[in-house]
Amino acid sequence: TRGFYIGRFQPFHNGHLSVVEQIADDVDELVLGIGSADDSHTVRNPFTAGERIMMITKSLVDTDLVTYAVPIEDLERNSVWVSHVQSMSPDFDVAYSNNPLVIQLFREAGVEVRQSPMFNREVLAGTEIRDRMVDDGDWESLVPEAVVEVVDEIDGIERIQMISDTDS
Ligand code: ATP
Ligand code: MG
Repeated sequence: TRGFYIGRFQPFHNGHLSVVEQIADDVDELVLGIGSADDSHTVRNPFTAGERIMMITKSLVDTDLVTYAVPIEDLERNSVWVSHVQSMSPDFDVAYSNNPLVIQLFREAGVEVRQSPMFNREVLAGTEIRDRMVDDGDWESLVPEAVVEVVDEIDGIERIQMISDTDS
């Protein structure tokens, strides 16, 4: 079986990794949909789709799963969003999500949805990690080592701190 898991992965963190490790018990292959793929260089979406593909691919090298990272651009039209996803992805049998809108859209389209528990959500959340990146806090302990290396390679902290500033 092949699963599908979508997120913005800004950045890919240890909560996402735990979800993938749990999904790996169920499926042989997993498509990771990179949401808001067309957005980057904003405080909410600092990293490009390509940078997020690097984070995901390098973080998952040791997992026992065939994985595909597929960029999914935003579409301001929820009614056809599942078709949009399917048009960009290898075929999948089951979608994994905790997001109520995503769950509803997949269910209406007849796609089986499974939910996963939340892992340490108080700190394992993209918003929290980006706040720590802006404020020079400890974000490194919340992401896989490979993500630390990618952020370093792309000077990601300098970027997010620069774009979070204003010109006034
Ligand atoms: P942001 O704060 O930017 O929304 P996020 O941590 O929610 O970041 P997303 O890329 O939005 O990250 O998440 C993708 C999916 O992963 C969502 O369905 C979300 O519910 C799930 N997820 C995020 N963090 C965790 C976690 N700690 N445990 C389990 N699932 C998580
Ligand atoms: Mg989220």
